[in-house]
Amino acid sequence: MVGPDTRPTRNQEPRPNAPSVLVVGAGAAGLAAAWTLAARRQDSNCRIQVLEASDRIGGRMFCEEVDGFHVYGGASVIHESFATTRALARELDVELRPGPRKKGGQGYANGRFWGLYVGGSFRQTLTTLRTMLFSPQHSLGGNLEFMRLFSMLRKRSEDLDFEDHSRMLDLDTGQSFAEFARANSLGRYLRQAGELDLNCFAAASSEQVGAAYGMALLWLWTVNPATRSYLPRQGIGALAKALADACAGFIRTSTPVERIVLEDGRARGVVTASGESIRADAVICATTASTAARIMPQLPGELRAVLDRVSYSACCNIAFGLDANILAEGSHAGLFPPGSPTFLTMVTNLAATTPDAAPSGKTLVHALVIGQQAQALFALSDDEVARRVVAEMRRFFPAMPERPRFAKVYRWPEAICLSPGGMLNAVHELRARLHECAPGLFLAGDYTRLPSLNGAMKSGVEATEASLSYVASAAGGAKVGS
Ligand SMILES: Cc1cc2nc3c(=O)[nH]c(=O)nc-3n(C[C@H](O)[C@H](O)[C@H](O)COP(=O)(O)OP(=O)(O)OC[C@H]3O[C@@H](n4cnc5c(N)ncnc54)[C@H](O)[C@@H]3O)c2cc1C
Repeated sequence: MVGPDTRPTRNQEPRPNAPSVLVVGAGAAGLAAAWTLAARRQDSNCRIQVLEASDRIGGRMFCEEVDGFHVYGGASVIHESFATTRALARELDVELRPGPRKKGGQGYANGRFWGLYVGGSFRQTLTTLRTMLFSPQHSLGGNLEFMRLFSMLRKRSEDLDFEDHSRMLDLDTGQSFAEFARANSLGRYLRQAGELDLNCFAAASSEQVGAAYGMALLWLWTVNPATRSYLPRQGIGALAKALADACAGFIRTSTPVERIVLEDGRARGVVTASGESIRADAVICATTASTAARIMPQLPGELRAVLDRVSYSACCNIAFGLDANILAEGSHAGLFPPGSPTFLTMVTNLAATTPDAAPSGKTLVHALVIGQQAQALFALSDDEVARRVVAEMRRFFPAMPERPRFAKVYRWPEAICLSPGGMLNAVHELRARLHECAPGLFLAGDYTRLPSLNGAMKSGVEATEASLSYVASAAGGAKVGS
């Protein structure tokens, strides 16, 4: 990780014939790579170029300011175990604040909401007990299975790590989380809570998520009550903006890469969609796996097959600026288990976890729709999506106004990388083989690690370190640029 004294310096430009590293994609992985390259520029004297297909920077780490609200369309939360992300935030002077210790949510079952609170008042604790004992969604058997899962995961808690997944590769057996649950008689827990949690955290079902990824997601976000999140004061957008501002000098937006060029097996640059040929000594591909497979047609078939196996969930995230909270007091989210009579999966009150996301006295609420229900919304206009979602929310949250201050619709056909069974090991091997098959080509992106903002950023930092040592050794072992 780059240290606090190595902030990028712009004052000394590398000489024009200095070696160059080119990054494809300016999402979390590409931005972390660009920032690290910039921080290393004084030593490496490398030229840096980042090409981004879209007209905006950040990829799935996307935020915008609307009417004084800090609205985010993609990633929202940083877990306390996200060491690389937190270190980057420190270097960029983006203050992270711990999320609330008290957490509350309401699950829908049999026509009403049932509250579950962690660290709440005496009354909320009683409500939680009532839910555990009487909610049709909960059963004693399911609660006991939850305790068993807790104990299983606690034994491996040191390995379930978003910073370094290498110690959990043995858990990536090829099973889905659903298969793992069946094999360990955790079916009632899965129906009671696990399925809904995976719907919310991966926008997918337990059949789609790999066992290892499912275990890490559940342990770090829900099963372990000590889990804590961190957020920039004004939401994740502050981090995305700080990274984008720091790297803006190197980034060309609206420049999709059509093909990464390999000559004699070595990465030599890219060709853009407009036919421009750009030479580089090393290329970091920081796109999703599906794009990576498309723009690297020269990669050996068995390596591209690994990229083709990576899958993503789909989700539609709709943000509403409101004048007042619509959820129950102390509750951050209203959750709808699979089979609920609605197309909504979750409604969250962002202002409860990130007070500066909304102007004083106002509230920012997000509705999440996943899978086929999301795909159905993708085809509609923003106004139509907002109209349908508002009408649906009003069925369950009577305080939801018919006309919110604003509605913003974010469509993510590739939302969360699902790390299906066996993917962690397959991608691990792919990265190792790439050094022999395509020297000078490096992969970054959330799919190359445990998928998350942190996985993406860590992959960008590591790909940079590897590309700089490659460029240095290709220059004859001498210090690059000397
Ligand atoms: C709704 C939602 C909520 C989420 N919540 C969280 C959360 O709370 N916490 C968390 O840790 N993670 C969360 N995630 C996941 C997280 O956002 C991603 O894991 C992470 O942002 C992925 O970053 P990336 O750089 O790997 O990919 P991306 O962000 O997808 O970046 C890839 C970039 O490459 C660009 N690109 C594509 N094709 C080309 C091309 N041909 N040429 C040039 N550029 C190209 C794209 O435009 C994009 O900017 C969430 C995701 C979504 C969608």
